[in-house]
Amino acid sequence: MPRTGNETSCLFGPVNSRRLGRSLGIDLVKFKTCTFNCVFCECGRTTNLTAERQIFIPTEKVLKELSALLDAIKDKPDVLTFSGGGEPTLAANLGEILAEIKKNYPSYKVCLLTNSSLLSDSQVRAEIKPVDIVIPSLNAVSPAAFQKINRPSAGVTPEKVLSGLLDLRREYHGQLLLEIFIVPGINDTPPELALLREAAALIKPDGVQLNSLDRAGTEDWVKPVSAENMQKIKEFFKEFNTNYYLKR
Ligand code: SF4
Repeated sequence: MPRTGNETSCLFGPVNSRRLGRSLGIDLVKFKTCTFNCVFCECGRTTNLTAERQIFIPTEKVLKELSALLDAIKDKPDVLTFSGGGEPTLAANLGEILAEIKKNYPSYKVCLLTNSSLLSDSQVRAEIKPVDIVIPSLNAVSPAAFQKINRPSAGVTPEKVLSGLLDLRREYHGQLLLEIFIVPGINDTPPELALLREAAALIKPDGVQLNSLDRAGTEDWVKPVSAENMQKIKEFFKEFNTNYYLKR
């Protein structure tokens, strides 16, 4: 379920995720603090658009909540997932929390969903190295489409995002699944898809995940992709072990 901003805990779930199995979410930022203000965001408009890392929730609070919840629930999650109502890599204590989780809960897989905007920062890449699965997104390569879809904070460009993704691929040895969120009319045109395929060929992800609107997005003109078009786009990305997720 998307975050609403009314939650008091930084944990959400476990939920049965379409792509990860039973996933317990860990949200390290204040609601709708993000480097992007995506037109498709299912958590609504970004209220704190920033690229500045800071500590939003103290490490001790996150670890205490996690320990209490994992002790209390019978149906244990398959994966602990950094995600939520903002961009997880904005949390300056992400690396510290991740290291504690890997030390204290070695049997759980850890996943990070990121919009890739801060991957050009070598500190961020170093911090996220211990995750088992990283799902970074790249929704557009052309500056015009990138701007229309992601509406980024100042200084975040598609060139920087792509170069961060390439650096991550070189330095990171876990599973890297590149997510592309398809916004019909913007990044599903032949030139935009060709640019995305070229970028994917450079990144060499372990898989590509095509995503589409599932619940209402921030802008009501954003529509889900039809099954027929998604199948065609999947075919276009066939060299990459591609899956897609459609509106349920
Ligand atoms: S990057 Fe994620 S959280 Fe941020 S605005 Fe886009 S969809 Fe929402």
